[in-house]
Amino acid sequence: MSRSRRLEFPIGSPLYHTALNDPANPPATYWHATGGPVPVAVDPLRREVTAEVAVIGGGYTGLVAALRLARQFDVEVRVLEAGPIGWGASGRNGGFCTLGGTARDWAEIDRRFGVAEARAVFAAQRRSVELVRELAAAHRIDLRATGAGEYVVAHKPSRVDGLAREAAFVAELVGERFELLTPDELRARGIALAEAYGALHIPHAFGLHPLRYLRGLCRAAVEHGARVHERTPVVSWEYAGGWHRLTTPGGAVRARRVLVATNGWTPEGLRPELAGRVLPVLSSILVTRPLTPGEREAQGWVQPALVADTRELLFYIRLLEDGRILFGARGGTRGDESAFARRMAWLEARFRERFPALAHVRAEFGWWGLVAFARDRLPHLVRLESPPASLVALAYHGSGIAMATLLGWHAAADILGREDEPPLPACFRRPLRRFPLPALRLHYLRAAMALAAARDAWW
Ligand SMILES: Cc1cc2nc3c(=O)[nH]c(=O)nc-3n(C[C@H](O)[C@H](O)[C@H](O)COP(=O)(O)OP(=O)(O)OC[C@H]3O[C@@H](n4cnc5c(N)ncnc54)[C@H](O)[C@@H]3O)c2cc1C
Repeated sequence: MSRSRRLEFPIGSPLYHTALNDPANPPATYWHATGGPVPVAVDPLRREVTAEVAVIGGGYTGLVAALRLARQFDVEVRVLEAGPIGWGASGRNGGFCTLGGTARDWAEIDRRFGVAEARAVFAAQRRSVELVRELAAAHRIDLRATGAGEYVVAHKPSRVDGLAREAAFVAELVGERFELLTPDELRARGIALAEAYGALHIPHAFGLHPLRYLRGLCRAAVEHGARVHERTPVVSWEYAGGWHRLTTPGGAVRARRVLVATNGWTPEGLRPELAGRVLPVLSSILVTRPLTPGEREAQGWVQPALVADTRELLFYIRLLEDGRILFGARGGTRGDESAFARRMAWLEARFRERFPALAHVRAEFGWWGLVAFARDRLPHLVRLESPPASLVALAYHGSGIAMATLLGWHAAADILGREDEPPLPACFRRPLRRFPLPALRLHYLRAAMALAAARDAWW
């Protein structure tokens, strides 16, 4: 695909190649190959309709908001999704349902915003993971849940102290005990990889099938009366006389209120208020063929555990229920197809380093997608400066399964002007500030990644 190809309906940021922003370009993921039935009654919008709330983006954020609006508040809601349901990050992530959402650790939040806020963020993260389980139970969604907790593995001996400090900090902050493991203890739990000098076990987390979760949310939202339209990109957004008008290729929605739930693919051209507010960052994944029991034994990785390492440019690894290994990493600043091929080759090489006993095993699936960073490295659920009655919920920093669920849940109440108990942490309500000279965002990212890679290698 050439750089000059014009998309019919581009979404996302102009920073990346159009191949990455094309909703007609489906990701070839393991999840799509195993994702169960596709949603029904989600046809493209083909006429002009009216709704109380319109939601732009049909990932976890948008669909959880729509589900709650329809079910609990009995509000007429329309979700407009540019691709097929599951085209965005919610259909192509790693399935690590963790205490996530921010790119700051709890100690940093404590230093910056105070201890009460650090506790509020921790509590919100715990609630977010519980909410995923509750929604799945309430709406009969088969999450294919695996594993108990997440292991953060020290990739260098020097990183073990940092894990111990984090455990001590959490014990002091919220009275929870995160277990510290030696390399032998980690191996005894059936998790063996090169570069594991110790590990911190964070309970609460678990693994899930991201697309099954998303499709389940979609089915539930539709069953409760939400109208969902896939392959329906919003191509213009006007506001006049108390009504928003969202135009799509086949129709339009007139709505009193609008929720923007577009995260890494936030369409910067749609409104000036959306431009330059997030930094989309690439994350890439490969999935191997199913390993034989002998191969898993030879490597010493036999548990369906979630593992991430202490690198800032982290690797994340899971053994899937059918014996495959999912191996992912952040990084890269070019989104064209040759950059994708290079990224996959790089990822396979890193996989072989970490799993020497599996060096002969090839990847069967490979894909990538965009996560979103905010300037202050916190998730945001905030009103847009204009037009009135519009809200944006995004910026989960690569760990948004649970946090997008929580922000979508709160967004449903917020958009109607209702208050939720407990409230979200105040720091999630900070204004979503524009990056300085937004056209330079990828240059900032390159510089930040070079520094992070140096710290990962030397400290
Ligand atoms: C490769 C990868 C691995 C990841 N791994 C993990 C993980 O293991 N654990 C974790 O917690 N998080 C992970 N994440 C992050 C997580 O997937 C996201 O934080 C989360 O899915 C965000 O959900 P969302 O609904 O806000 O956005 P998305 O799911 O990205 O949905 C946004 C949607 O908006 C749509 N859109 C954009 N513009 C328009 C428009 N103009 N009109 C209509 N629709 C529009 C897009 O088509 C898109 O589908 C990963 C992400 C990636 C890419």
